[in-house]
Amino acid sequence: MNKEQFADNHFIRTIIEDDLASGKHKHIHTRFPPEPNGYLHIGHAKSICLNFGLAYLYDGVCNLRFDDTNPEKESDEYVRSIKEDVQWLGFHWEGEPHFASDYFEDLYNYAVALIKDGKAYVDELNAEEMRQYRGTLTEPGKDSPYRSRSAEENLDLFTRMRAGEFPDGSKTLRLKIDMASGNINLRDPVIYRIRRVHHHRTGDKWCIYPMYDYTHAISDAIENITHSLCTLEFESHRPLYDWVLDNIAIDGHPRQYEFSRLELLYSITSKRKLNQLVTENHVSGWDDPRMPTVSGMRRRGYTPEGLRLFSKRVGISKSENVVDMSVLEGAIREELEDSSPRMMAVLNPLKIELINYDEALTQSRSAPFHPHHEEMGEREIPIARHIYIEQDDFSLNPPPKWQRLTVGGEVRLRYSYVIKCEEVITDEAGNVIELKCSIDHDTLGKKPEGRKVKGVIHWLSAEHAVPAAVRLYERLFTVERPDAVRGDDGEYKPFTEFLNQHSVTEIDAYAEAVANTLAPETRFQFERLGYFVTDRYDHTTDAPVFNRTVSLKDSWHD
Ligand code: ATP
Ligand code: MG
Repeated sequence: MNKEQFADNHFIRTIIEDDLASGKHKHIHTRFPPEPNGYLHIGHAKSICLNFGLAYLYDGVCNLRFDDTNPEKESDEYVRSIKEDVQWLGFHWEGEPHFASDYFEDLYNYAVALIKDGKAYVDELNAEEMRQYRGTLTEPGKDSPYRSRSAEENLDLFTRMRAGEFPDGSKTLRLKIDMASGNINLRDPVIYRIRRVHHHRTGDKWCIYPMYDYTHAISDAIENITHSLCTLEFESHRPLYDWVLDNIAIDGHPRQYEFSRLELLYSITSKRKLNQLVTENHVSGWDDPRMPTVSGMRRRGYTPEGLRLFSKRVGISKSENVVDMSVLEGAIREELEDSSPRMMAVLNPLKIELINYDEALTQSRSAPFHPHHEEMGEREIPIARHIYIEQDDFSLNPPPKWQRLTVGGEVRLRYSYVIKCEEVITDEAGNVIELKCSIDHDTLGKKPEGRKVKGVIHWLSAEHAVPAAVRLYERLFTVERPDAVRGDDGEYKPFTEFLNQHSVTEIDAYAEAVANTLAPETRFQFERLGYFVTDRYDHTTDAPVFNRTVSLKDSWHD
């Protein structure tokens, strides 16, 4: 990793530099706080690059903290996948991962202290009543009839809430702030609710669970976080974050700063909706290569370097951050261009017999695995009597300016000879099934005499090519904003209506023999076709499986 890899001067960097310069902080300490209720997606990748990237840039540290206060939806599987994804992206957290549930006892004790100070009370309004009392954006709320209980009574009730004396949902603990506040988040927010749900770490120890805002502020302070970075929807929660820290006895007061959420067109960045794709079997799992999850993008062949480059490009600001998929694909392609070795593969084979192939005369050449990286080595490109080319590199009735093969025309086989098509063999229906071509033996490594042959096509010796399954992926959705399309009735349509029915095709293809030597997750450029990766799970040396990561050019709009 190097320091150039992170987003340039943005407002959060300016704040940090000022804090370091003024001596407000000697070291910076950030955190990445996912809720373990799903796999991480591209939006989280941006947040990871920001939080871990800032720690890296300013020689600080970044914690990984699981914000596990909603036990219904959380699980160890998600914890495991999140750790794996952060590491795969190239980052290291400070010490052991933290869990908000590690602080349940502290959070409880701070709540008791707030009650004793007259700053929190046990309420008995049900959810519907609470909504009515809350008021609206334009009208103040009303005080709950339970708001004026004594500290003793509140303490007794809260202790008994914890002890399991009351049914789920029958009582809450609320902060006593201001029911008339212009900021609805300050209208006596609930900080504890009763919920008998098994927790992935604390089991059945607790039947009351703290709410997000309360938990988050205190967790940040316990961990001595200096800069608590979150997305813009939390801007109006900041006064509550500050209120909590100002009203409990805790050292340090982390500062919250907000930046805009990344949204990716033709995609979805919501764990809840991604979960729906998984549970309704629209995809094979969270790590399906079509998913915008970190694990899906990994399986698709995206690289950590490419994702970091993308995060840098999308930048950090408070303005809208809606990004076209081509920006992501462009960053991935750009990074793979330099890092991927090349091979040839034929996806839709058309067989050719080289009629003047002569074992004694016709030679093979070797070619570098990468045009600019000698250290990647070379491989032999064997030739034989039968070869495969791509079906669409031949045309019976070519359009004007056709530079590939046609009857009587010539083309160069990449790293090999110029060949001429002498005869076309068709089946009864008129489909081209084989070509007979001649080799110009005087063209290996040199130009043909007296004429120009412009076209160069990729090919494979049929004798040496190895079969490989190739999975061609397209975008998962057919519209830019699948979750924001409204019907005639003005209601949002289900985003699953906009799934691309052709987002994956598996074909039987051929590749160079090197395909039989590769480990899973090895990336290659198939010349003229795109970037491919051996599948993380299904690939074996005996039966290679490649996933298309991204095509060579942005072909989406033409
Ligand atoms: P989702 O709606 O997908 O569940 P979330 O914000 O609820 O997202 P968390 O697990 O709470 O998910 O997020 C962990 C961190 O990642 C938070 O700091 C959050 O702000 C950040 N984050 C989540 N989604 C995005 C996004 N699209 N762009 C930038 N940061 C994001
Ligand atoms: Mg969340």
